[in-house]
Amino acid sequence: MSESTSYCAPEPAPKPEPATEGPFAACVLCQEPTEYPESTKGITLCPVCAWQEAQRNACSG
Ligand SMILES: [Zn+2]
Repeated sequence: MSESTSYCAPEPAPKPEPATEGPFAACVLCQEPTEYPESTKGITLCPVCAWQEAQRNACSG
């Protein structure tokens, strides 16, 4: 008998600090303003695209 650990655990992605004031960075996917400051380095996603990316990165099936 062998134990199988075939569960799906989505990895938490590092998130930049949300900004309270603009200018806000644009979403790299839909160009909508995100909640992150324009000075944020790296990929910025709006809540909608971030959720979709999370779904895509999660185990499918
Ligand atoms: Zn977006």
